[in-house]
Amino acid sequence: MPSARIFYDADADLSLLDGKNIVFLGFGKQGSAQAQNLRDTGIPNEQITIANVKDSFADEARAKGFNVEHDFSKAAEIADVLFILIPDQVQPGVFNNKFFPKMKDTAVIVVASGYNVFFNLLKFKPQQDVVMVAPRMIGSSVRSLYQKGRGFPCFISVEQDGTGNGLPIALALSRGIGATKAGAIASSAREETAMDLFAEQALWPNIIMMFREAFNVLKEAGCSDEALCYEMWMSKEPAEIFERAADDGFIAQLKHHSTISQYGQLSGSLKLEGTSTREHFKDILYNQVLNGKFCKAFSLIEEDLEKEGAENPLNELYRRSEETELAQAEKRVRARLAELL
Ligand code: NDP
Repeated sequence: MPSARIFYDADADLSLLDGKNIVFLGFGKQGSAQAQNLRDTGIPNEQITIANVKDSFADEARAKGFNVEHDFSKAAEIADVLFILIPDQVQPGVFNNKFFPKMKDTAVIVVASGYNVFFNLLKFKPQQDVVMVAPRMIGSSVRSLYQKGRGFPCFISVEQDGTGNGLPIALALSRGIGATKAGAIASSAREETAMDLFAEQALWPNIIMMFREAFNVLKEAGCSDEALCYEMWMSKEPAEIFERAADDGFIAQLKHHSTISQYGQLSGSLKLEGTSTREHFKDILYNQVLNGKFCKAFSLIEEDLEKEGAENPLNELYRRSEETELAQAEKRVRARLAELL
């Protein structure tokens, strides 16, 4: 597999955005950050419109000096570029019904996540450019790093090159929001979706399960709730380890630990050969993520996520997770701490 291409500011020509009407659908975490960055890069405010229903998000956009359009048909008609920055699960309903029919044949559509494009849940006209500019950062960091004059990691791809100009325009937009400053990595909706959903459905569930079971075993061995919660996460040691891993290296960060710890971690991890985990991970990647099985199953429960109480499947998953010994113990510890304050 060749190394991925990385694009920098010098690869992007901002003048491609001259005179273009750029519409942001949504002014939430990413919408607010990206629209402000774009304007601060020098794209005139008159060229930028925020499409949002009348509510606090619209008020915030207006308070920040943006033009706000509540009528989505009008926003769709004027857009030369549309950033779709509303939650992934509502994008097909809103975009396909309210934007797609009214949009220009050669509009550029920008997504910040590969999910809906990879699973073909959005409708596009053949001459439209569909590009992904996907920051690997939460919105507040997209904004604060930009304000500090620094970049943020970002994936970029052209998913449909309707005009033949998809890459230059994707690069100009990436530069506009500050994504080429630290280097935007060439990727694809498939790659982004595979990694995102794999992390969410394979890697982190295993990490949660490992913590849960480690907690159970140590508790059975007589360790107190307080000691366990602090030892395992409330001290923020895991957060510090991951920060060191990002700065110094995944393995090299171990050098910050004691010699006994380094020996234990390195010898222990090499003893676990991981074959069954690898097979389990492959199963999730190929038979749940990439084949669309999860996407299909999620679409069946999507509407229920608006419901209250136990009818909402997410609430039910929270309820069951909060019944675990780890969560119950943490609740007791936090209640005790609150009493002490
Ligand atoms: P948010 O949850 O912050 O989006 C909120 C915005 O979406 C508001 O403007 C809200 O307006 C609007 N919205 C919500 N529901 C609807 C609806 N039914 N119809 C119209 N507008 C709606 O989203 P994010 O910024 O978190 O995510 C946007 C995109 O960015 C997604 O594709 C996500 O995957 C991607 N992304 C997110 C990252 C993150 O850290 N959050 C990181 C990288 C990418 P209102 O409620 O008024 O309708």
